[in-house]
Amino acid sequence: TDFASLPLAPEQLQTLAALEYHTMTPVQAESLPLMLAGRDVIAQAQTGSGKTAAFALTVLHNLNVAQYAVQALVLCPTRELAEQVAEEIRRLARSQANVKVLTLCGGVPTRDQSLSLQHGAHVIVGTPGRVLDHVSQQRLDLTQLHTLVLDEADRMLDMGFQAELDAIIEAAPVKRQTLLFSATFPPQIASLAQHLMQAPAHIEV
Ligand code: AMP
Repeated sequence: TDFASLPLAPEQLQTLAALEYHTMTPVQAESLPLMLAGRDVIAQAQTGSGKTAAFALTVLHNLNVAQYAVQALVLCPTRELAEQVAEEIRRLARSQANVKVLTLCGGVPTRDQSLSLQHGAHVIVGTPGRVLDHVSQQRLDLTQLHTLVLDEADRMLDMGFQAELDAIIEAAPVKRQTLLFSATFPPQIASLAQHLMQAPAHIEV
């Protein structure tokens, strides 16, 4: 359960050590080997399980900083969660120079976000309504996306974001890695996963 057992760059291991992440949490130990190998993964994980770092490390592992395009999208149910997730990604990105992480949530002016999008971002973290708004208005190009994360997917469905999720996914390439995190597994999550993911591994901790 040591991060050093994973195929991570030495610089990434140094960042983890500096943050005092010494051993993997159970969800990290189960999901990271699969996710870093490129598998689609459905993980049943609660807040506090270390799920954010698990998908953040995967997003960063898949990233080519020299390519100026949105390569990863993390969808979250609320602005508060999106901001926490963006913060964790930035913390873990310390060893990779110039990783641009942009949050796109409702409740802040669209105009400022559009300007930030024009300046370019590698990773977008946002809520489904506002992300779809930018996609529909062709301010957010998802054609280069290779990592899609749905965080707290059950809450996003509870909040009525199914149509937004479907429309966003429609704009993303079929060939991508999809990671789904959810605290609970109602049937709607299973059907979402079925049309969203390819041969996903299931993890329960
Ligand atoms: P989360 O479940 O993603 O909200 O994470 C809960 C907290 O655990 C966050 O404050 C993380 O910074 C922290 N954390 C995540 N992974 C580790 C780890 N392997 N070792 C120590 N702390 C961690």
